[in-house]
Amino acid sequence: MKLLSAALVLFSAAVSTTSGFAPATPLAFSRPSSSVRSASTLNMVADDAKVILVTGSSRGLGKAIALELGKAGQKVVVNYVSDGSKSSADETCEEIKAVGGDAIAVQCDTSDPKAIKGMFKEIVDAYGTCDVLVNNAGITKDTLVMRMKPEQWQSVIDVNLSGVFYCTQAFFKVAAKKRTGRIINISSVVGQIGNPGQANYAAAKGGVIGLTMSNAKEFSARNVTVNCICPGFIETDMTAELPEEYLEKVCEGIPLKRLGKPEEVGGMTKFLALDPAADYITGHCFNVDGGIAIGA
Ligand code: NAP
Repeated sequence: MKLLSAALVLFSAAVSTTSGFAPATPLAFSRPSSSVRSASTLNMVADDAKVILVTGSSRGLGKAIALELGKAGQKVVVNYVSDGSKSSADETCEEIKAVGGDAIAVQCDTSDPKAIKGMFKEIVDAYGTCDVLVNNAGITKDTLVMRMKPEQWQSVIDVNLSGVFYCTQAFFKVAAKKRTGRIINISSVVGQIGNPGQANYAAAKGGVIGLTMSNAKEFSARNVTVNCICPGFIETDMTAELPEEYLEKVCEGIPLKRLGKPEEVGGMTKFLALDPAADYITGHCFNVDGGIAIGA
Protein backbone atom coordinates (compact mmCIF):
# COMPACT_ATOMS: atom_id res chain seq x y z
CA MET A 1 0.00 0.00 0.00
CA LYS A 2 1.39 3.35 -0.98
CA LEU A 3 1.83 6.50 1.09
CA LEU A 4 -1.15 8.37 -0.34
CA SER A 5 -3.47 5.55 0.59
CA ALA A 6 -2.41 6.11 4.16
CA ALA A 7 -4.21 9.43 4.00
CA LEU A 8 -7.36 7.40 4.55
CA VAL A 9 -6.80 3.78 3.53
CA LEU A 10 -6.57 4.36 5.98
CA PHE A 11 -16.57 -12.50 19.76
CA SER A 12 -17.31 -15.50 20.85
CA ALA A 13 -19.38 -17.85 23.01
CA ALA A 14 -18.90 -21.48 22.06
CA VAL A 15 -22.54 -22.34 21.48
CA SER A 16 -23.56 -25.46 19.73
CA THR A 17 -24.43 -25.28 16.06
CA THR A 18 -25.70 -27.39 13.23
CA SER A 19 -23.69 -25.52 10.62
CA GLY A 20 -20.38 -27.12 11.47
CA PHE A 21 -18.78 -23.75 12.05
CA ALA A 22 -17.83 -24.07 15.69
CA PRO A 23 -14.15 -23.16 15.94
CA ALA A 24 -11.81 -26.12 16.05
CA THR A 25 -9.96 -26.64 19.29
CA PRO A 26 -6.17 -26.67 19.07
CA LEU A 27 -4.84 -30.20 19.50
CA ALA A 28 -3.32 -29.64 22.93
CA PHE A 29 -6.77 -28.90 24.36
CA SER A 30 -8.84 -31.37 22.45
CA ARG A 31 -8.09 -35.08 22.48
CA PRO A 32 -5.25 -37.61 22.37
CA SER A 33 -3.02 -37.26 19.34
CA SER A 34 -3.77 -40.79 18.17
CA SER A 35 -7.34 -39.77 17.27
CA VAL A 36 -6.42 -36.49 15.61
CA ARG A 37 -4.92 -36.28 12.16
CA SER A 38 -4.55 -33.35 9.88
CA ALA A 39 -5.12 -33.64 6.16
CA SER A 40 -1.62 -32.23 5.99
CA THR A 41 1.39 -34.12 7.27
CA LEU A 42 2.95 -30.83 8.30
CA ASN A 43 1.15 -30.27 11.58
CA MET A 44 -1.56 -31.90 13.65
CA VAL A 45 -4.81 -30.03 14.07
CA ALA A 46 -8.26 -31.08 15.23
CA ASP A 47 -10.43 -33.16 12.91
CA ASP A 48 -12.98 -30.37 12.71
CA ALA A 49 -10.41 -27.69 11.75
CA LYS A 50 -11.62 -25.55 8.87
CA VAL A 51 -9.66 -25.08 5.66
CA ILE A 52 -9.41 -21.33 5.19
CA LEU A 53 -7.93 -19.56 2.17
CA VAL A 54 -6.67 -16.06 2.97
CA THR A 55 -5.67 -14.34 -0.25
CA GLY A 56 -2.68 -12.02 0.01
CA SER A 57 -1.53 -13.27 3.40
CA SER A 58 2.25 -13.19 2.97
CA ARG A 59 2.27 -9.88 4.85
CA GLY A 60 0.18 -6.99 6.22
CA LEU A 61 -3.44 -7.49 7.23
CA GLY A 62 -3.70 -10.83 5.44
CA LYS A 63 -0.84 -12.21 7.54
CA ALA A 64 -2.46 -10.97 10.77
CA ILE A 65 -5.74 -12.62 9.71
CA ALA A 66 -3.95 -15.87 8.85
CA LEU A 67 -2.22 -15.90 12.26
CA GLU A 68 -5.48 -15.30 14.15
CA LEU A 69 -7.02 -18.25 12.32
CA GLY A 70 -3.89 -20.31 12.96
CA LYS A 71 -4.14 -19.56 16.69
CA ALA A 72 -7.68 -20.92 16.51
CA GLY A 73 -6.22 -24.23 15.26
CA GLN A 74 -7.36 -23.98 11.65
CA LYS A 75 -5.76 -25.10 8.37
CA VAL A 76 -4.77 -21.91 6.62
CA VAL A 77 -3.84 -21.44 2.98
CA VAL A 78 -1.37 -18.56 2.75
CA ASN A 79 -1.65 -17.05 -0.72
CA TYR A 80 0.80 -14.59 -2.26
CA VAL A 81 1.68 -13.43 -5.77
CA SER A 82 5.28 -12.14 -5.99
CA ASP A 83 8.27 -14.48 -6.25
CA GLY A 84 9.93 -12.24 -3.68
CA SER A 85 7.22 -13.01 -1.11
CA LYS A 86 7.75 -16.79 -1.10
CA SER A 87 9.99 -16.65 1.95
CA SER A 88 7.59 -14.43 3.92
CA ALA A 89 4.68 -16.71 2.95
CA ASP A 90 6.70 -19.74 4.13
CA GLU A 91 7.55 -17.90 7.37
CA THR A 92 3.87 -17.13 7.90
CA CYS A 93 3.12 -20.84 7.52
CA GLU A 94 5.75 -21.71 10.14
CA GLU A 95 4.32 -19.09 12.52
CA ILE A 96 0.84 -20.54 12.05
CA LYS A 97 2.11 -24.03 12.85
CA ALA A 98 3.93 -22.71 15.92
CA VAL A 99 0.67 -21.34 17.35
CA GLY A 100 -1.33 -24.53 16.81
CA GLY A 101 -2.66 -24.37 13.26
CA ASP A 102 -1.56 -25.92 10.00
CA ALA A 103 -0.69 -24.04 6.82
CA ILE A 104 0.45 -24.31 3.24
CA ALA A 105 1.64 -21.48 1.00
CA VAL A 106 0.24 -21.17 -2.53
CA GLN A 107 1.49 -18.68 -5.09
CA CYS A 108 -1.31 -17.41 -7.31
CA ASP A 109 -2.34 -14.18 -8.97
CA THR A 110 -5.91 -13.79 -7.74
CA SER A 111 -6.80 -11.62 -10.72
CA ASP A 112 -6.17 -14.58 -13.06
CA PRO A 113 -9.12 -17.03 -13.22
CA LYS A 114 -6.94 -19.84 -14.67
CA ALA A 115 -4.39 -19.51 -11.90
CA ILE A 116 -7.20 -19.50 -9.31
CA LYS A 117 -8.46 -22.81 -10.68
CA GLY A 118 -4.95 -24.21 -10.14
CA MET A 119 -4.83 -22.78 -6.59
CA PHE A 120 -8.11 -24.46 -5.64
CA LYS A 121 -6.81 -27.74 -7.06
CA GLU A 122 -3.72 -27.41 -4.85
CA ILE A 123 -5.91 -26.67 -1.81
CA VAL A 124 -8.21 -29.61 -2.43
CA ASP A 125 -5.20 -31.90 -3.09
CA ALA A 126 -3.62 -30.85 0.21
CA TYR A 127 -6.63 -30.56 2.51
CA GLY A 128 -9.53 -32.20 0.69
CA THR A 129 -11.77 -29.14 0.64
CA CYS A 130 -12.06 -25.41 1.32
CA ASP A 131 -14.49 -24.17 4.00
CA VAL A 132 -13.86 -20.44 4.23
CA LEU A 133 -12.60 -17.83 1.78
CA VAL A 134 -11.11 -14.54 2.97
CA ASN A 135 -10.74 -12.20 0.00
CA ASN A 136 -7.98 -9.95 1.30
CA ALA A 137 -5.46 -9.47 -1.55
CA GLY A 138 -5.36 -5.86 -2.63
CA ILE A 139 -3.17 -3.21 -4.22
CA THR A 140 -3.17 0.57 -4.55
CA LYS A 141 -2.07 2.73 -7.47
CA ASP A 142 -2.98 6.14 -6.16
CA THR A 143 -3.07 9.33 -8.18
CA LEU A 144 -5.49 12.10 -9.00
CA VAL A 145 -8.21 11.30 -11.56
CA MET A 146 -6.76 13.68 -14.16
CA ARG A 147 -3.41 11.88 -14.02
CA MET A 148 -4.67 8.32 -13.74
CA LYS A 149 -3.47 6.09 -16.59
CA PRO A 150 -5.68 3.26 -17.88
CA GLU A 151 -3.22 0.73 -16.38
CA GLN A 152 -3.49 2.35 -12.93
CA TRP A 153 -7.28 2.18 -13.12
CA GLN A 154 -7.48 -1.32 -14.60
CA SER A 155 -4.91 -3.10 -12.44
CA VAL A 156 -6.60 -1.96 -9.21
CA ILE A 157 -10.02 -3.01 -10.52
CA ASP A 158 -8.53 -6.34 -11.69
CA VAL A 159 -6.98 -7.29 -8.34
CA ASN A 160 -9.30 -5.58 -5.83
CA LEU A 161 -12.65 -6.27 -7.50
CA SER A 162 -12.40 -8.87 -10.30
CA GLY A 163 -10.04 -10.96 -8.15
CA VAL A 164 -12.68 -11.11 -5.41
CA PHE A 165 -15.27 -12.19 -7.98
CA TYR A 166 -13.07 -14.92 -9.53
CA CYS A 167 -11.99 -16.36 -6.17
CA THR A 168 -15.62 -16.31 -5.02
CA GLN A 169 -16.71 -18.24 -8.13
CA ALA A 170 -14.05 -20.90 -7.61
CA PHE A 171 -14.82 -21.18 -3.88
CA PHE A 172 -18.58 -21.39 -4.43
CA LYS A 173 -18.09 -24.40 -6.72
CA VAL A 174 -16.69 -26.25 -3.70
CA ALA A 175 -19.01 -24.77 -1.03
CA ALA A 176 -22.26 -25.10 -2.97
CA LYS A 177 -21.88 -28.88 -3.13
CA LYS A 178 -21.36 -29.08 0.64
CA ARG A 179 -24.15 -26.57 1.32
CA THR A 180 -22.00 -24.73 3.82
CA GLY A 181 -19.30 -22.09 3.69
CA ARG A 182 -18.35 -18.58 4.61
CA ILE A 183 -16.87 -15.77 2.57
CA ILE A 184 -15.34 -12.67 4.14
CA ASN A 185 -14.41 -9.82 1.82
CA ILE A 186 -11.91 -7.21 2.97
CA SER A 187 -13.13 -3.90 1.59
CA SER A 188 -12.23 -0.49 3.05
CA VAL A 189 -13.80 2.64 4.48
CA VAL A 190 -12.61 4.22 1.22
CA GLY A 191 -15.28 2.15 -0.56
CA GLN A 192 -17.86 3.78 1.70
CA ILE A 193 -16.75 7.40 1.97
CA GLY A 194 -14.24 7.87 -0.89
CA ASN A 195 -10.81 9.48 -0.83
CA PRO A 196 -9.05 11.94 -3.15
CA GLY A 197 -6.37 10.20 -5.19
CA GLN A 198 -8.05 6.82 -4.86
CA ALA A 199 -10.84 6.78 -7.46
CA ASN A 200 -9.72 3.34 -8.68
CA TYR A 201 -9.39 1.92 -5.16
CA ALA A 202 -12.69 3.45 -3.96
CA ALA A 203 -14.53 2.13 -7.02
CA ALA A 204 -13.12 -1.37 -6.49
CA LYS A 205 -13.77 -1.41 -2.74
CA GLY A 206 -17.29 0.01 -3.19
CA GLY A 207 -17.83 -2.71 -5.79
CA VAL A 208 -16.79 -5.34 -3.23
CA ILE A 209 -19.53 -4.09 -0.89
CA GLY A 210 -22.13 -4.47 -3.68
CA LEU A 211 -20.74 -7.89 -4.57
CA THR A 212 -21.01 -8.94 -0.91
CA MET A 213 -24.72 -8.05 -0.74
CA SER A 214 -25.55 -9.60 -4.09
CA ASN A 215 -23.63 -12.82 -3.43
CA ALA A 216 -25.14 -13.12 0.05
CA LYS A 217 -28.61 -13.16 -1.49
CA GLU A 218 -27.59 -15.52 -4.30
CA PHE A 219 -25.69 -18.01 -2.12
CA SER A 220 -28.13 -18.12 0.79
CA ALA A 221 -30.00 -21.05 -0.75
CA ARG A 222 -26.78 -23.06 -0.38
CA ASN A 223 -26.19 -21.91 3.21
CA VAL A 224 -23.08 -19.95 2.21
CA THR A 225 -22.78 -16.63 4.02
CA VAL A 226 -20.97 -13.60 2.58
CA ASN A 227 -19.88 -10.66 4.71
CA CYS A 228 -17.53 -7.76 4.38
CA ILE A 229 -15.06 -5.97 6.64
CA CYS A 230 -14.20 -2.31 6.12
CA PRO A 231 -10.93 -1.50 7.88
CA GLY A 232 -9.99 2.11 8.48
CA PHE A 233 -6.43 3.26 9.16
CA ILE A 234 -4.54 0.19 10.36
CA GLU A 235 -0.98 -0.05 11.72
CA THR A 236 0.94 -1.83 8.98
CA ASP A 237 4.39 -1.46 7.42
CA MET A 238 2.79 1.22 5.30
CA THR A 239 1.75 3.42 8.21
CA ALA A 240 5.07 2.80 9.94
CA GLU A 241 6.70 4.72 7.09
CA LEU A 242 4.64 7.85 7.75
CA PRO A 243 5.98 10.81 9.72
CA GLU A 244 4.89 10.83 13.36
CA GLU A 245 3.30 14.30 13.17
CA TYR A 246 1.26 13.20 10.19
CA LEU A 247 0.01 10.15 12.06
CA GLU A 248 -0.90 12.35 15.03
CA LYS A 249 -3.05 14.49 12.72
CA VAL A 250 -4.72 11.41 11.25
CA CYS A 251 -5.51 10.14 14.74
CA GLU A 252 -7.16 13.45 15.65
CA GLY A 253 -9.74 12.70 12.95
CA ILE A 254 -10.45 9.20 14.29
CA PRO A 255 -13.06 9.11 17.09
CA LEU A 256 -11.02 6.49 19.02
CA LYS A 257 -7.90 8.64 18.49
CA ARG A 258 -5.58 5.87 17.36
CA LEU A 259 -4.77 3.62 14.43
CA GLY A 260 -6.23 0.14 14.31
CA LYS A 261 -4.14 -2.95 14.93
CA PRO A 262 -3.96 -5.73 12.29
CA GLU A 263 -5.07 -8.23 15.00
CA GLU A 264 -8.28 -6.21 15.41
CA VAL A 265 -9.14 -6.85 11.77
CA GLY A 266 -7.98 -10.44 12.36
CA GLY A 267 -10.35 -10.78 15.32
CA MET A 268 -13.36 -9.62 13.35
CA THR A 269 -12.42 -11.97 10.50
CA LYS A 270 -12.12 -14.88 12.94
CA PHE A 271 -15.58 -14.10 14.32
CA LEU A 272 -17.17 -14.00 10.87
CA ALA A 273 -15.24 -17.06 9.69
CA LEU A 274 -15.70 -19.39 12.65
CA ASP A 275 -18.10 -18.25 15.33
CA PRO A 276 -21.39 -20.15 15.50
CA ALA A 277 -23.07 -16.81 16.28
CA ALA A 278 -22.16 -15.65 12.76
CA ASP A 279 -24.32 -18.38 11.19
CA TYR A 280 -27.21 -15.92 10.96
CA ILE A 281 -25.19 -12.99 9.61
CA THR A 282 -24.96 -12.48 5.87
CA GLY A 283 -24.67 -9.61 3.41
CA HIS A 284 -23.39 -7.10 5.93
CA CYS A 285 -20.38 -4.82 6.31
CA PHE A 286 -18.52 -4.54 9.59
CA ASN A 287 -16.26 -1.55 10.12
CA VAL A 288 -13.03 -1.91 12.07
CA ASP A 289 -12.09 1.73 11.80
CA GLY A 290 -12.06 3.47 15.19
CA GLY A 291 -15.25 5.22 14.12
CA ILE A 292 -13.77 7.11 11.15
CA ALA A 293 -16.70 6.16 8.90
CA ILE A 294 -19.51 6.46 11.44
CA GLY A 295 -22.76 7.05 9.54
CA ALA A 296 -21.46 5.63 6.25
P1 NAP B 1 -0.14 -5.17 1.75
O1 NAP B 1 0.63 -5.11 3.02
O2 NAP B 1 0.30 -4.39 0.58
O3 NAP B 1 -0.26 -6.74 1.34
C1 NAP B 1 -0.95 -7.07 0.19
C2 NAP B 1 -1.03 -8.57 0.09
O4 NAP B 1 -1.81 -8.87 -1.09
C3 NAP B 1 0.31 -9.24 -0.10
O5 NAP B 1 0.29 -10.50 0.52
C4 NAP B 1 0.40 -9.41 -1.62
O6 NAP B 1 1.20 -10.51 -2.02
C5 NAP B 1 -1.04 -9.71 -1.93
N1 NAP B 1 -1.39 -9.45 -3.33
C6 NAP B 1 -1.32 -8.31 -4.02
N2 NAP B 1 -1.73 -8.51 -5.29
C7 NAP B 1 -2.07 -9.82 -5.38
C8 NAP B 1 -2.55 -10.65 -6.43
N3 NAP B 1 -2.78 -10.17 -7.66
N4 NAP B 1 -2.78 -11.95 -6.17
C9 NAP B 1 -2.54 -12.47 -4.93
N5 NAP B 1 -2.09 -11.73 -3.91
C10 NAP B 1 -1.85 -10.43 -4.14
O7 NAP B 1 -1.67 -4.75 1.99
P2 NAP B 1 -2.47 -4.55 3.34
O8 NAP B 1 -2.29 -3.17 3.78
O9 NAP B 1 -2.18 -5.66 4.27
O10 NAP B 1 -3.97 -4.70 2.78
C11 NAP B 1 -4.64 -5.95 2.75
C12 NAP B 1 -6.08 -5.71 2.35
O11 NAP B 1 -6.71 -4.84 3.30
C13 NAP B 1 -6.23 -5.03 0.99
O12 NAP B 1 -7.35 -5.52 0.31
C14 NAP B 1 -6.44 -3.58 1.37
O13 NAP B 1 -7.14 -2.88 0.37
C15 NAP B 1 -7.25 -3.72 2.65
N6 NAP B 1 -7.15 -2.56 3.53
C16 NAP B 1 -5.98 -2.21 4.12
C17 NAP B 1 -5.94 -1.11 4.98
C18 NAP B 1 -4.67 -0.69 5.69
O14 NAP B 1 -4.70 0.29 6.45
N7 NAP B 1 -3.57 -1.38 5.52
C19 NAP B 1 -7.10 -0.37 5.21
C20 NAP B 1 -8.28 -0.75 4.57
C21 NAP B 1 -8.30 -1.86 3.75
P3 NAP B 1 2.78 -10.31 -2.33
O15 NAP B 1 3.44 -10.24 -0.97
O16 NAP B 1 3.16 -11.50 -3.11
O17 NAP B 1 2.92 -9.04 -3.09
